[in-house]
Amino acid sequence: MSKKDYYDVLGVTKGASKDELKKAYRKLAMKFHPDRNPDDEQASEKFKELSEAYEILSDDQKRQTYDNFGHEGVNSSFSSSQGAADAFSDIFGDIFSDIFGGGSGGGRGSSRGADLSYNLEISLEDAVFGKSLNIEIPSKERCSGLWNRCSYCGGSGVIRQQQGFFSMQQTCPQCRGEGESHDSNCSKCNGSGYLNKNKKLSVKIPAGVDEGDRIRLSGEGESGRGGSRGDLYISINVRKHEIFERDGKHLYCEVPLDFVDAALGGSIEVPTLVSKAKIKIPTGTQSHKIFRLNGKGIKPLRGGKVGDILVRVIVEVPVNLNTNQKDLLNKFKENMSHTDNSPLMSSWLNSAKDFFKKL
Ligand SMILES: [Zn+2]
Ligand SMILES: [Zn+2]
Repeated sequence: MSKKDYYDVLGVTKGASKDELKKAYRKLAMKFHPDRNPDDEQASEKFKELSEAYEILSDDQKRQTYDNFGHEGVNSSFSSSQGAADAFSDIFGDIFSDIFGGGSGGGRGSSRGADLSYNLEISLEDAVFGKSLNIEIPSKERCSGLWNRCSYCGGSGVIRQQQGFFSMQQTCPQCRGEGESHDSNCSKCNGSGYLNKNKKLSVKIPAGVDEGDRIRLSGEGESGRGGSRGDLYISINVRKHEIFERDGKHLYCEVPLDFVDAALGGSIEVPTLVSKAKIKIPTGTQSHKIFRLNGKGIKPLRGGKVGDILVRVIVEVPVNLNTNQKDLLNKFKENMSHTDNSPLMSSWLNSAKDFFKKL
């Protein structure tokens, strides 16, 4: 296969500077990146060509060899697909991750920063309606002090060895792949290379989040050594609400109901998350009956019908009765007929009668 001239591939002149090479590659690589041209063989080929050309020409030594000996001079040390991937992630890891959503990870001589997680406690109201919150997180920042390029690997983080036809790639033993080392006498960070800082961030809580949901803030994790930053994961904890319990998209609460109101019927006021609502209580409402307020619940985060508020009424039996009240209740009892007024009681007594006979 006859190969195209690397300079032609990138559309630059033989005397192009490193910056010009980088610019040319960046422009073309963006255009032919496989993520932008899915299932396009030609674009994929073009992208490989570009990456290969850039990998060779951006390396002073390889460029010189190529200038002197052409493709024959550099082919043996170029491991095509791996090399292209490396060249790609080295330069564009951070740029492309913004555009294409997925980070391409660290390449040679770089490592992606650690992901951070943060537990954020929010109110039920904020979980349901969403909110922008300011948070402060502890964060490690890369020290701006002196960093020295690793002398053993020249900063690439890898050692390449030629063995016959094969090119072997190995992590640099001196810098363990980091490609550089920090000034051990640095007064800013005591030589650790990183500074502990508090970072202020604004977090947008989407309406409908639930306990345990995680929000990813891309690139807000720790900074890596020459690589892209990690991500920050915000884990949502929803504070216990004084009235409502959440069950998916529904809100549940219990409301006491006066035993006279339960018997005579009427209406009670119940809370919603934003205001109040009225529930009509039919006559003869039994304790623990559930009333439903349609569409007053939660709009699900991932779409769908808004949930309901479920109100369970708990009929309260009066306590601490005075003599007068007791007299009234006794008079009331004398007026009661089990058959008419207490169907549950009368049917239970019927079955119990047979049962007691057997004893
Ligand atoms: Zn090294
Ligand atoms: Zn430092």
